[in-house]
Amino acid sequence: MEFEPVIGLEVHAQLKTKTKIFCGCSASFGAPPNTHTCPVCLGMPGVLPVLNKKVVEYALRMASATNCGIAHESRWARKNYFYPDLPKGYQISQYELPIAVNGHIDIEVNGDGKTIGITRIHMEEDAGKLTHDPGRPVSMVDFNRAGVPLIEIVSEPDIRSPREAGAYLRQLRAIVRYLGICDGNLEEGSFRCDANVSVRPEGAETFGTRTEIKNLNSFKHVENALEYEINRQIETLMSGDPVVQETRLWDAVKSRTTPMRGKEEAHDYRYFPDPDLLPLVIDDEWIREVKNTLPELPTPKKERFVREYELSSGDAEILTASRELADYFEECFREFPNPRRIGNWMIGPLLGLLNAAGTGIESSPVSPHHLARLLQLIDEGVISGKIAKTVFEEMAASGKPPDRIVEEKGLVQVTDTSAIESVVLKVLSRFPGEVEAYRSGKDKLLGFFVGQVMKETKGRANPKILNDILKDRLR
Ligand code: ADP
Ligand code: MG
Ligand code: ZN
Repeated sequence: MEFEPVIGLEVHAQLKTKTKIFCGCSASFGAPPNTHTCPVCLGMPGVLPVLNKKVVEYALRMASATNCGIAHESRWARKNYFYPDLPKGYQISQYELPIAVNGHIDIEVNGDGKTIGITRIHMEEDAGKLTHDPGRPVSMVDFNRAGVPLIEIVSEPDIRSPREAGAYLRQLRAIVRYLGICDGNLEEGSFRCDANVSVRPEGAETFGTRTEIKNLNSFKHVENALEYEINRQIETLMSGDPVVQETRLWDAVKSRTTPMRGKEEAHDYRYFPDPDLLPLVIDDEWIREVKNTLPELPTPKKERFVREYELSSGDAEILTASRELADYFEECFREFPNPRRIGNWMIGPLLGLLNAAGTGIESSPVSPHHLARLLQLIDEGVISGKIAKTVFEEMAASGKPPDRIVEEKGLVQVTDTSAIESVVLKVLSRFPGEVEAYRSGKDKLLGFFVGQVMKETKGRANPKILNDILKDRLR
């Protein structure tokens, strides 16, 4: 029997606001423990939450970008549970009336487009962070994260494979980063995903029983965990057992999921409307303003790059992976209007350099202006494409402009025919045997002679002129 997987993802994105959702404490990451706290986010008695307007604006941006319907009135709810990282004993969230419902985004897998529905987006506060010290019988709690704003984005069960799940997550992450509302860092936990998955016999109308997988902190983990879990569920069903509805944890070391808690241990959160907060009312004007100020989003930008710059879909995808990368490209283009060549240099040497250094385009040691100038130098015949690679490495190391490097290192291309010719003659006289062999049909030796001349000229001989002279002299 053939089985079809059904997947729905719940994503928590931490919003990059300056302050927390209900108090004035800093929401920034990485401060010493418990330095970003106050009576409100520590849940002291008698305090009252005050909503941060920026959080609502960011949620509205996401709702707009994902084609959601926006609720003119939504409500805050208390989600009650006891845990040491939750000082109030409840989390303020949204429940029956979230800020946004019924959206969708487009993804692409192997060149095929697909639309994934978004059930809802709601705002909530994050909890603190527990650290368990393996050396001592203690646990420590840091409340800096308590009250940091999150949006939760819940997808419809429209995803049908781990690859689609990966594509959906990457697209969602690209959107939050384009919007500038979340840094999308899975490792640091500012972009977190729980994956719900079930399987059903091919052609079945109803869904199978699902499990929810937690502890997924990279795209690879999400895809691997789903792959594992789909196979586990199929094997379970094939052996005649039912799939049990439960929460499972991904163990990245052992590459498997293990049960965390079953349905009967599932929390009863006893949701009820938070009496400390008024219903959230959003007027049309605010919604319109948000819509009108959205940046160009990843998919339209990618499509425009294909259309306007005639780039391949794959190259356009890479070059629009972030807004900064796309801006870099367009800045280069303004000074050097050859999109293919810019694309090749960015995707090859530039991204290679940045990946090796583990940094983003924002901190590229090579500015778009300098890259464009390098490409101009090739076009103007000042340096060869090969020498340009050397110049680029030097630009990366020193941040110097290409002209200066070419001048300082004496890398200007030799286009003087007689100068090249004299080197050619020198080389040919040094290798009479090879010259003989070439003339009697070993054509491949041409490359050898080119190499020798390049060695003599430190790679500076103009390749076209050199080839012409060599062929002429070897006749
Ligand atoms: P909960 O609140 O318990 O997490 P939800 O109904 O909100 O449950 O669903 C959470 C996620 O699970 C959603 O992304 C949804 O698409 C997905 N989902 C629901 N049913 C199934 C199923 N049978 N198989 C796979 N995913 C499912
Ligand atoms: Mg859930
Ligand atoms: Zn606070």
